[in-house]
Parts: sequence; structure tokens; C-alpha cells
Amino acid sequence: MKVANETVVRFHYTLRSDSGEVLDASEGGEPLAYIHGFGQIVPGLEAAMAGREPGDRFEIKIPPAQGYGERDEDAIFRIPRAKLPPGVTPKVGMELAARAPDGAVFRFRLIEVGDTTVTADANHPLAGENLNFTISVVEVRAATSEELEHGHVHGPGGAHD
Ligand code: ZN
Repeated sequence: MKVANETVVRFHYTLRSDSGEVLDASEGGEPLAYIHGFGQIVPGLEAAMAGREPGDRFEIKIPPAQGYGERDEDAIFRIPRAKLPPGVTPKVGMELAARAPDGAVFRFRLIEVGDTTVTADANHPLAGENLNFTISVVEVRAATSEELEHGHVHGPGGAHD
């Protein structure tokens, strides 16, 4: 079966930066599973998956616009240290989450820690980066009606059995 909308795809991946550093990989663990056509993986990778079959192996370079987006300088902001949750000792690289006025939770990393303020970056860590994937397709099958209803994969690599 070929990858098409409403198929469940299980695949192994290695993600490298442009300098060849391995950023993430599924080897040694379960393959990643997703339902094709639901925007569950980055757009550039989903597009490259269409028509693939089990056993296919390929490499693809995905630009930021088709990956985790461009870096947004407006997503960098300062917070008074006094506004940090009690008990938190801020450190560069620390990841925190906050609730926006509309109730949405957003995550950010601390990129600078000063005496009275900290600087936070809410960009995805891979925003602005090319994503260099090596993909091997493990399994392609039709999604069940229950999976389509829930919007996620069941079974190995999925949300639940
Ligand atoms: Zn479910």
C-alpha cells in the first residue's frame, strides 16, 4: 500500500542539521506513527511521504517554511525575574511554560539571565533551520474508522492500544 490520505504510516527517521549533527532519531526505539493528511508531521515531510511504500528509504532537505517555520524576533521577550514561578532558579537553556491571556499554553526557553530580568525565546528550537531527514518507511496501512475519529494512531507508536 502507498502513502495517501487516511493511511497510517510508521517510519524511522534521523534528523540532522546542515552541519551534519544528529538532532533527533528514532533508531533504537519504536518507529514514529502518524495518520497521513492530518498535519501531524511538518508539512515538507508529509508532502515527501505521499506515494511512498514500505521499504522505501530516502533523504530530504526541508526549508524552514516547510518545517518549523522561520524564527520570529517578536517571539523573544523579557520577563522580570519576580514574575517567574516561585522556586524556579532561572538558567540559560531552561524550558518553561506559561498561560497566555486567552488560556493557551505556550513554551519558551531562557536565552539570557540577568539580575532583574530574563530573556525568553518562544520560537521552536528548530525554527529557521533546514531539516535534513533520512527516512525509512516501515509500514503503510489504511487507518481504522476509530483512528480517523480520534485523530491519532492506535497500536505500536500510537497514542494508545
Ligand atoms: Zn484513540
